[in-house]
Amino acid sequence: MTPVSFSIDHTRLNPGIYLQAEPGKVYTYYLRFVAPRRSQKEGIPQAVMHTFEHCLATSLRSSAPFAENILYVGPMGCCTGFYLLLNREVDKAVIAAALVEAFDFIIAADAIPAANPRQCGNYLLNDLEAARALALRLRGIFLPGGGYETEYPVLEE
Ligand SMILES: [Zn+2]
Repeated sequence: MTPVSFSIDHTRLNPGIYLQAEPGKVYTYYLRFVAPRRSQKEGIPQAVMHTFEHCLATSLRSSAPFAENILYVGPMGCCTGFYLLLNREVDKAVIAAALVEAFDFIIAADAIPAANPRQCGNYLLNDLEAARALALRLRGIFLPGGGYETEYPVLEE
């Protein structure tokens, strides 16, 4: 079976929160931070992805209203966003608000949670300063009215 994401027109895809659901099982939210057509210029460097991975997981799992519903938070291999897997459906506006809180967590952080050789597979691969700059930019997009999108552009045959 072809993965559903291969039917999405990535040339028209913008930063946003997109849901792919298997009702009653798993609700996969695509937290797209960079438009794929801009990934050559704006793709997130691996070190920043890693810093975001630690900080997003920490912030969402500790303070999001859906914290106990989180199955997984992890990076997209294409370095344009993250996957958020939940065990129930959550309003995208609620997720956007939790993201803004996570961005504020990154902006205010003076250390990266669990970035040490005992708790991480590659703790030197981090860039908090660049992560702060990205968080600041994304914060504006995911605020109410900031322009983040919620419906996928589907490929036309
Ligand atoms: Zn790590």
